[in-house]
Amino acid sequence: MKKLVMASNNVGKLREFQTLLAPLGWEVVPQAELGVGEAEEPHGTFVENALAKARHASLATGLPALADDSGICVSALGGAPGVQSARFAGEPKSDEANNALLLTRLREVSDRRAHYVCVLVFVTSASDPQPIIAEGEWHGEILPAPRGSGGFGYDPLFWLPALEQSAAEIPPELKNTLSHRGAACRHLLDRLARTE
Ligand code: IMP
Repeated sequence: MKKLVMASNNVGKLREFQTLLAPLGWEVVPQAELGVGEAEEPHGTFVENALAKARHASLATGLPALADDSGICVSALGGAPGVQSARFAGEPKSDEANNALLLTRLREVSDRRAHYVCVLVFVTSASDPQPIIAEGEWHGEILPAPRGSGGFGYDPLFWLPALEQSAAEIPPELKNTLSHRGAACRHLLDRLARTE
């Protein structure tokens, strides 16, 4: 098995990537297990933050690295909260406060279009001149009030017109198939399989 370091300490994501990458011969090791601390994410774009995290993990371990960055972009807000999605309403991070702030910002706004974005970056080394960049998007609309109790983050406000359900109302397996993260993972796997 080849080893790669995952620049995230989120247990759910780690498990997901371990399952997806094992068939391609990759063992996925969380950065914390190798003594790597979290990287700064100072940038205004998802791709720059994911690349910074991947480089940081690879530099610290000497291993190939995989990082992700994700969030929600609301059309009427010029793409905000974007890379600030986790901390839209400030510290400490709170999904409830973020959702409340989003509803306030969109009060009396008729354009409710929004999309989730996930960017995955894979580098073979910290100085890799050609990182693999895989993106996924998931389009929907922001509801006027939360619906459903599944998912996390902005899911109770994320309406899927074709399904007539929010992202917090659909089963997790369906979310994995439709979501920005699912799409980005499929692109990454495709690219990784082709580069070997
Ligand atoms: P991270 O990339 O996992 O840190 O996610 C950044 C933030 O974007 C999260 O804290 C959520 O607020 C939001 N987000 C990303 N993906 C999702 C999703 O699938 N559902 C709901 N919120 C999400």
